[in-house]
Amino acid sequence: MTDGFGRTIDYLRISVTDKCNLRCRYCMPREGIALIPHRELLTLEEVYRVVRIMAGMGICKVRITGGEPLVRKNVTKLIKDIHGLPGMEEIAMTTNGVLLGEQVEELKAAGLTGVNISLDTLHPQTFERITGFDRHGQVMEAVEKVLEQGMKLKINCVPCRGLNDTELTELASLAKERPVDIRYIELMPVGCGRDFEGIPSHEILAGLEACYGKAQLSEEKRGNGPARYYDFPGFCGKVGFISPISHKFCGECNRVRLTAEGRLKLCLHYDRGLELKPLLRGGATDGDIRHEVEEALQKKPKEHDFEHIGEREGSEKRKMVQIGG
Ligand code: SAM
Ligand code: SF4
Repeated sequence: MTDGFGRTIDYLRISVTDKCNLRCRYCMPREGIALIPHRELLTLEEVYRVVRIMAGMGICKVRITGGEPLVRKNVTKLIKDIHGLPGMEEIAMTTNGVLLGEQVEELKAAGLTGVNISLDTLHPQTFERITGFDRHGQVMEAVEKVLEQGMKLKINCVPCRGLNDTELTELASLAKERPVDIRYIELMPVGCGRDFEGIPSHEILAGLEACYGKAQLSEEKRGNGPARYYDFPGFCGKVGFISPISHKFCGECNRVRLTAEGRLKLCLHYDRGLELKPLLRGGATDGDIRHEVEEALQKKPKEHDFEHIGEREGSEKRKMVQIGG
């Protein structure tokens, strides 16, 4: 399916919960957020119905996210069901990794094809300062377990001045020693992210080259997203940069998001979208829903305007944990 600007949309990011077992400072306030009442969350059967309908429209890649997706019960069953849909090529998950080690085998058996673990530092103390919890060891164990299972693994890091800026080069040593890709994601000024200062990708690349030698821009296309990948001499994995601020990639956007309460969100910047819950709970047929989704896609914004997010009408006001990143 295509949007109003002719972009092919084949990638759906699904947030299955707004709950989280960490409190990353750029994502969620320490005191937590007002949680969506349970009855307002889409059931996993409703989520599956949306994915089934959209798979029939051309969605072939799905990512399960949150909040922390692994705090929602029965996510494995959802993955298994999505895996069974005709034409589904990839089902990945973005997780903080805390609960992953104990579930990775069953997730793989259910059909999960890849995992992104969010990890901003190799130091337990810094981890606790950023996330509010002493869980670094569990995340590192999960990294090893995912590799033992032979699954595709990417590590996502959000560089923030004053939080992890002195540890970014060291984090890349994981990609030197292990077959994982490390990706540095520019901080977006959404929710709590507005209280922090991100670090542009070129600054991080310069620091990495000073330590590990000259990098080559990789020709190989990896994943569904806009990351630019580099090869460093002697590294097992690649180093990627996702730079929505310094290298806007909206012209190639291929994604929409389903929030935990059932909004089809068209762009990370804007709060507008299609409310699917009233349709799902109000007797709409698959054909009705398909029609509404097609119409909504024609309204997908051309691009984000993060530079003016506070001033723009319709800007997202919720925290990243409520959107799904
Ligand atoms: N809890 C899971 C995790 O941490 O991977 C999934 C949800 S989290 C919202 C998804 C991703 O969004 C994480 O990699 C996180 O680091 C990133 N993120 C959160 N706030 C962000 C911000 N303001 N700018 C850029 N990325 C952000
Ligand atoms: Fe939770 Fe992920 Fe947000 Fe951290 S980034 S608070 S782990 S949702």
